[in-house]
Amino acid sequence: MTSNVDPTEISKFDRLARSWWDPAGDFKPLHDLNPLRVSYIETRLQLAGTRIADIGCGGGILAESLARAGAMVTGTDMAEKPLQVARLHATESGVDVDYRQTTVEALADSESASFDAVTCFEMLEHVPDPGSVIAGCAKLLKPGGDLFLSTINRNPKSYLLAILGAEYVLGLLPRGTHDYAKFIRPSELAEALRTSQLILTDVTGMTYNPLTRNFSLGRDVDVNYLVHAHKPVEQNL
Ligand code: SAH
Repeated sequence: MTSNVDPTEISKFDRLARSWWDPAGDFKPLHDLNPLRVSYIETRLQLAGTRIADIGCGGGILAESLARAGAMVTGTDMAEKPLQVARLHATESGVDVDYRQTTVEALADSESASFDAVTCFEMLEHVPDPGSVIAGCAKLLKPGGDLFLSTINRNPKSYLLAILGAEYVLGLLPRGTHDYAKFIRPSELAEALRTSQLILTDVTGMTYNPLTRNFSLGRDVDVNYLVHAHKPVEQNL
């Protein structure tokens, strides 16, 4: 494999890019999740003055929030249109984010050990080799740096809620957004973190209540979940 990019996934996000910042549009779940993930990061990391790479940033919902909180953010994605939307939106909102079209693997080659933190949210389930993305994130981090990930667990309940429920019953996401086979169990993510010599610090669930239409953080990691890991200051090679 020359590149860890699925062109079908990229064209899917290119097609949807226009509605990225519509809080009631195709990316509504990302807008609804965003305050929770920002507070998850903020309780674990001082954002002001921190250099962060946001991998698979899309239209920049998270990247902008991090920049507003004082972080110096580099947002990367492989889809061109979401990046155009992200650049335009940042300019209009007066937020400074450095957006680049690159894979994490390529960025890690040119900027290894350059970032205090790396975020990679709702992206791992869209790539052919998530372990390679995690290895790239690990390489980008300075020793002692923090990694924040989120993805979707793989089990019958996540199939029911994240695919049948979200895409077919509630219509929260366009049909075909997710492929069940690409969902990732926390144990698989933990293994990939170990392989990249990262230390797993926390796994927290994000659950959706269809009645209140709100997400909340908690212990239930059956469907959506967040992960915090860090790169040891000294690595045992
Ligand atoms: N992280 C953002 C967007 C999630 S949507 C957020 O949570 O708000 C998933 C994003 O991953 C899309 O923008 C898609 O283009 C991007 N993506 C998919 N495969 C990728 C790859 N191999 N490299 C970089 N970005 C990728």
